[in-house]
Amino acid sequence: MSFENLNLHPLILKAIIDSGYTSPTPIQEQAIPELLAGHDIMASAQTGTGKTAAFMLPALHRLAAPSKVHSRGPRVLVLTPTRELALQVSEAAAKYGKHLPRVKVVSILGGMPYPLQNKLLSQPVDILVATPGRLIDHIQRGRIDFSRLEMLVLDEADRMLDMGFIDDVERIASATPATRQTLLFSATLDSAIDKVAARLLKLPKRIQIATQQARLDNIEQRLHYVDDLSHKNRLLDHLLRDMALKQAIIFTATKRDADMLADNLSAQGHEAAALHGDMNQRERTRTLTKLRHGGLRVLVATDVAARGIDVVGITHVINFDLPKFAEDYVHRIGRTGRAGASGIAVSFASGKDGVNLKKIERFTGHQIVSHVVPGLEPRFKQRPATGGISRGAPSVAHKRNRTWSNDSGRTTNSANGNWDNNRSRSFSDSRESTRGNTFKNSGAPSPYLRSK
Ligand code: AMP
Repeated sequence: MSFENLNLHPLILKAIIDSGYTSPTPIQEQAIPELLAGHDIMASAQTGTGKTAAFMLPALHRLAAPSKVHSRGPRVLVLTPTRELALQVSEAAAKYGKHLPRVKVVSILGGMPYPLQNKLLSQPVDILVATPGRLIDHIQRGRIDFSRLEMLVLDEADRMLDMGFIDDVERIASATPATRQTLLFSATLDSAIDKVAARLLKLPKRIQIATQQARLDNIEQRLHYVDDLSHKNRLLDHLLRDMALKQAIIFTATKRDADMLADNLSAQGHEAAALHGDMNQRERTRTLTKLRHGGLRVLVATDVAARGIDVVGITHVINFDLPKFAEDYVHRIGRTGRAGASGIAVSFASGKDGVNLKKIERFTGHQIVSHVVPGLEPRFKQRPATGGISRGAPSVAHKRNRTWSNDSGRTTNSANGNWDNNRSRSFSDSRESTRGNTFKNSGAPSPYLRSK
């Protein structure tokens, strides 16, 4: 199928051509016709599948016709769990709507000053992209007129549920007209999401696209067994010497570790910076802009801060510490292999990580191939090696410029295991773990500064 077949407004089509997209991704192919026909949808599609355009293109198509209601309030509202994702949605709206006359996009995010937001909200708005908490504040102060709202998008609804935002989301939805079209996107569609959908959506069409497996096909996953922190640091040093590594995101377990590792790498001469939830929005945006423009080779991040980062140049993701939750592993490694490129995801695992590793592998349905760097072999007894010797260069051929395949079709995800039901964990910035990792004595000074 081509974009021409989707019957989108010609000025939107023009922006798609400008973006260099040749054909719709599976989620776009399935969601756009339903949305143009006016249906509600609930879709399982992760970041990286093209889901943003799947809802933004039909949203803009609506905006191409004038509103029937006379008001200055938003016609489209997108709710996202994180500020980073909200900013990316706003950027996508500007990119795909650039040829349409006067599409005003406003982001209302936590951590940003109120006076500027008040000013933005006092002017006409077409697309409002917001994180739920801050939006509730503005609604309570009577600053938002939803009388002409036509479309409500819940992006990463599972994450909003995980982060405890769903009551806010429901309150916001109840402030909007019942005639609205409602779209729900979630990594997985499970019973908790079904309950939310039952309350907020009307006879939704269900679209099931990306299994984790399908999404990860373009990412080579590697495992390195490690003995201790010093071994991790030596392996990291080896990986960073690889010329094939253009840009990398390194994930650590805690904010403190991210800062320390970034400082240590900078001291070693790497263009490195940290990104985590303790940084204010301006610092986070500045760091991400630098990453996007190639001014940083290495970003050291925690899970929360890294959500939604979409930088095409990321060739490698390195799990310096394995994530606690298998679902986060998928989100982390999805930071590479963007927009059809290939990517490499390297995970360090110590003897203590065995259970975690198994959970990740069960979730993705994929056994991660273990690699050994000559001279940096682990001392402890590991499971039988399944992979080859890694000398820095990728062991499988890169598949850059992969075209979108339409074969992921309507699939069900059998690899979800027990993980989707784990709603008790915390993801919000303030709740990021600040405990040390397994190699650190709590309260000890930075191990990164001590070991190379
Ligand atoms: P998303 O899943 O919305 O985070 O999008 C992932 C990436 O895919 C973004 O960098 C988009 O610019 C890109 N993208 C979206 N739609 C297409 C398409 N039809 N063809 C190629 N790239 C796309």
